[in-house]
Amino acid sequence: MKITVLGAGVVGVTTAYQLAKAGHAVTVVDRQSGPALETSFGNAGEVSFGYCGPWAAPGVPQKALKWLFMEHAPLILRPKPDWAMLSWLLRMLANCSGPRYAVNKGRMLRMADLSREALADVRAETGIAYDERMQGTLQLFRTDDQREASAKDVKALAADGIPYEVLDPEGCIRVEPALAHVREKIKGGLLTPKDETGDCYKFTVGLAEKARALGVTFRYGTTVKTIVTSAGKVESVATNKVPIPTDAVVVCLGSYSPFLLRNFGIKLPVYPVKGYSLTIPITDAARAPESTVMDESYKIAITRLGDRIRVGGMAEISGFTTDLPTARRRTLEHSVSDLFPGGDLSKASFWSGLRPMTPDGTPVIGATHIRGLYLNTGHGTLGWTMSCGSARHIAQVIAGEKTDLSPADYAIARYR
Ligand SMILES: Cc1cc2nc3c(=O)[nH]c(=O)nc-3n(C[C@H](O)[C@H](O)[C@H](O)COP(=O)(O)OP(=O)(O)OC[C@H]3O[C@@H](n4cnc5c(N)ncnc54)[C@H](O)[C@@H]3O)c2cc1C
Repeated sequence: MKITVLGAGVVGVTTAYQLAKAGHAVTVVDRQSGPALETSFGNAGEVSFGYCGPWAAPGVPQKALKWLFMEHAPLILRPKPDWAMLSWLLRMLANCSGPRYAVNKGRMLRMADLSREALADVRAETGIAYDERMQGTLQLFRTDDQREASAKDVKALAADGIPYEVLDPEGCIRVEPALAHVREKIKGGLLTPKDETGDCYKFTVGLAEKARALGVTFRYGTTVKTIVTSAGKVESVATNKVPIPTDAVVVCLGSYSPFLLRNFGIKLPVYPVKGYSLTIPITDAARAPESTVMDESYKIAITRLGDRIRVGGMAEISGFTTDLPTARRRTLEHSVSDLFPGGDLSKASFWSGLRPMTPDGTPVIGATHIRGLYLNTGHGTLGWTMSCGSARHIAQVIAGEKTDLSPADYAIARYR
């Protein structure tokens, strides 16, 4: 079958790779000049299978109110007269109940688990190097309240059979020796030892090359205008260049996915949640992280990527802007220099990206009512983590095979 994948972020490229392996003739279209140049470019580098869960959780609305007034706030709301923003926020609030959280977390964890397996397979098949490490995620608590609140995460990990270790400050230092110099600031930690780290951009570029070797065509610098259908079936993709005739389309356009779907009456509840990162060259390895440390106070992830520290986080609800305010940079600098001052901040590069977030945290993957029109998008906070599993899942759906995961859990129809 001729399949056109829209978007060459980590989700589009992993999708194209799986579809090419399944024997399809695949074309990938992206407006950028290469793969992973938007949200997949500078993310925090966590491949956090165990830490995977929705942001909409019990207690979050109350915490969010407090965060809004913090100096180094993890959440920033820049309200606009925008119905999409308001309705997304209301749906997110509706997902903050205990029962909804349990359902959403379960779906995300199962997708993450499939991704763990699928990423290991991709590594074995391709040998791509992407500054990968397999040393876990350490969630670091600076207050007793944070440590006590983690009991609900521990319960969820235990229930799902995900390995974890509850650590005292000495245990945290054993895992991350550079924390020894801030011993007095640490109250404890929660380690998910099976988590990984890696540079999403390097991975995506490497996989795009492997996909090309399997016969995938990449059309960069090409903006998708619309999907052309006839008698309820996909016919072609209209672009700013020549149209692309196709049997099927997979939409992997991240935060921009909803625009293309409106024409078909498909209301995809994906909204951009902006985040920021700094990439800092390491000057003193003894004061740099070994893996990912999640600073629970600022909700910021600090990750070792080869000879660099990547520090990323913050959730800013401000529409589609990707501007770079100095105040956000200060927050990242504050968190990293407090815990891991082993990098040269004067040489750091500052970046922002738009997480394609669904209100329930779970991506939208599967078929639509238009024949040949498929979705693989809405991966929000952990798209790098969930990408390989999502690609395997959509390839199974398109093939009409038995899927590893329940299709209903990820289909757009769950919002009805
Ligand atoms: C600060 C930050 C930290 C993060 N940290 C982590 C982390 O540690 N671990 C993790 O798992 N995830 C993390 N994420 C989330 C992760 O980066 C995203 O979920 C993931 O990159 C989404 O990938 P995507 O392919 O869906 O979207 P994108 O990478 O945005 O790809 C979409 C592509 O579509 C293209 N496009 C859009 N519209 C058009 C059009 N009309 N025509 C042609 N092309 C178009 C764009 O050019 C783009 O290349 C983080 C995100 C941010 C912002």
